[in-house]
Parts: sequence; structure tokens; C-alpha cells
Amino acid sequence: MNILKINDTSNKLYYVGGVVRDELLGIESLDVDITYVGNAIDFVKNNDFNDGQFEILQINEPFGTVRILFDGQEVDIASTRSEIYEKKGHLPTVTKIGCSLKEDVLRRDFTVNALAKSIATGEIVDYVGGVEDLKNKKLRILHDKSFIDDPTRILRGLKFSVRFGFELEENTKNLQEKYLKNINHDMCYKRVKKELIETFNLNSQAAFEKFINEKIYKLVCEKNVELPNENIENLVKKYIISSGKNPQNIWLVYVGVLGDLSKLPLTKNEQKILNDFSSIPEFKSDFEIYKTFEKMSVETILLYWILKDKKIAQKYLDKLFKIKIEINGNDLVKMGLKPSKKFGEIFDYILEKKIETPTLTKNDEIKLVRDII
Ligand code: ATP
Repeated sequence: MNILKINDTSNKLYYVGGVVRDELLGIESLDVDITYVGNAIDFVKNNDFNDGQFEILQINEPFGTVRILFDGQEVDIASTRSEIYEKKGHLPTVTKIGCSLKEDVLRRDFTVNALAKSIATGEIVDYVGGVEDLKNKKLRILHDKSFIDDPTRILRGLKFSVRFGFELEENTKNLQEKYLKNINHDMCYKRVKKELIETFNLNSQAAFEKFINEKIYKLVCEKNVELPNENIENLVKKYIISSGKNPQNIWLVYVGVLGDLSKLPLTKNEQKILNDFSSIPEFKSDFEIYKTFEKMSVETILLYWILKDKKIAQKYLDKLFKIKIEINGNDLVKMGLKPSKKFGEIFDYILEKKIETPTLTKNDEIKLVRDII
């Protein structure tokens, strides 16, 4: 982990949170968080940190964080800080910048995410039993009001349980259950959405089953939802991941199953995936299936598979979408036709025939055009 060659003479710099957890688990970390015991902004401004070989990129006064560039890397250094949740479910208010390391780790979500490692000495600092919980693969919140303060921690727990194969510890599980029976929906759904994306883009059926069976979905959608029969993980592997196409919205195949996502701040593209699903008509022919699904994302089609009609979606994804006509505008011009709107109608006519008889060759297609002009 010490890929950042920091020479910490202050002895007040610590790796904290996920990076320490991941090192103890022997896995690669997604990002590196560093905390300075005290005010990190003053420290960076005044100290001869790294022999002055760094550049300050950005300062965030209210949170006491500073982004620096050194050794070719951007690194965020946070001040130790304590926080309170004045408005439950929303971002906390910083009450003190430059508190003790212990106070800083006590504001965190799970014991396994509350570990620190001294950069100067390599010593692991564990105020809350995180090392033991890591060994036992347990996710334990730090105090009984944790989920009330910040319900996104329930989704973070789900995400970590899937990523690391951990289980909620008994009291944490009970408190989660209790919170989910009495949710305060006045919460920051932007953060909820971020956790949903991170959890379900992992493409895990196990996460989805927990999400539904433990009623975690109630954070997002108040009506009752049953676990669908389909294994979404397998569907996504077969139709999205293997095609190598835009895997950003895998999460919407899972969460879209809830039907009502009005609480989440969705982008236009995300909203389109859901609106398209609601607008799918009853189909009367394979041609109609083709023309409708052709304009839609595979996420929408998978939602249709899971919630409406598996046979139709499967027919499109396995068979219909591969059908392409071979003639093009040039061929029609060569046949003496002038480019016009009519071309579209001709192509549709040929496509309809080709869907009925996929073995049609280009010559057959040309012949069919001749028959109608
Ligand atoms: P990842 O590998 O997903 O980045 P991480 O643990 O580093 O995991 P981050 O979201 O980057 O996750 O958060 C960094 C640290 O900040 C966490 O390890 C945890 O200590 C703390 N943290 C993050 N979100 C919360 C939260 N909602 N409540 C309390 N502490 C949090």
C-alpha cells in the first residue's frame, strides 16, 4: 500500500478507512484516504511536507480537506474531524476540525472501516475492534443510532457484504431490521443512488436477494416487492457484459424491478431506460418487437424480460436483433429510385420479409424490391 512515498516526520499522518481494511484483507484498494491528526490545511501550508516537493491543487475549508499533487499523484489529505447529524439522513455538520484520531474514527460507518495505519511507523490503530471483525468477516456499526443518522449505511453494508463476503453482526442486523420497519424517508437520495449504483453495478444476484428479502429496497420504494423468478446476474452476464456494451446502467436492471424510482434523482438517460419500459406496447408481430426494441437499451429489454414477457425479450435478444437487411440506399439508387422517405418504407418492407424468412439473400431482397416498385 505504501506506494505513496511519503516521509512523515510529523508522525500525524494516517491511512484511514477502506485502504487499511483492504490492506489487511490483502486486496487492491479503490482509493487511498489519508488523515492528518489536526488541521490538514494548515499542515500542508506550513509544513515542509515531503521536503516541499508537492503542489496544492484544491482546498476545502469547511471540511478541512486539501488535495495535493506529489510524486505524480493526486492525494486528498483530510483533517481529523467530528460531525453530528443535525438532520437525520442528510450530510452531517462538521463540529470540530482537528479533533483526536479516536473522535475521527468514531464518526465512521463500520468497525472494519474505522481502522487507521500510521504512515510514519506502520502501526495499526484500532479503537473499535475492527481487526477482530475483519477476521470474523463481520460488519458492525459503531453505535445504535448509526442507521438513523445515515440510512445509506444500510446500502453500504449490503455492498461490503457482497464485495467481501461479510455478514452483519447480530445487533447491527437487528438495528437494520428495526430501522427498515420505521424509515424516515426525508433523506439524501443522491447518496442513496450512489450506493445503489456501486452495489448493483457489481452484478450480484446475492446482493439483490438480500435487498429484496431483507426489505432494504424499502429505502427507495414504499410498496411491497417480491423477488422475481429470473436470475438477474446471469441475464446481465449473458446480454450486457458479454456484449461489451455500455455497462454503466446494470444497476437499473436490478433497481428498476422496484417499479417506482421517483425518489431517486435520475439522469435523462436513466429516466429514458425506465420510460421506454413503461411505453412498450402489446406486440402483434415479430416485426413490431424488432422495431420497438431496436430503439431501446438492453437494460430496458431485460426489465421487460424480468417483469413482463421473458419469451418475447429472449426472442429479440437471441434471434431477432441479429437479423439485418443487406440492401442499402445505393442499391435502390442503382435500381433507378430517387432517395426519398419511401426508402425507409422499402427497407421496413424487406425487413419484415427477412424476419419471416431470415435466409433471404441480397439477391432475394433485390427481387422483392423489384416486385413492389
Ligand atoms: P471503497 O473501497 O468502496 O472506496 P471505502 O471504505 O474506502 O470503500 P469510501 O466511500 O471511499 O469507502 O469512504 C471512505 C471512508 O469514509 C470509509 O472507509 C468510512 O470510514 C468513511 N465513510 C464513508 N461513507 C460513510 C458513511 N456514510 N458514514 C460513515 N462513514 C463513512
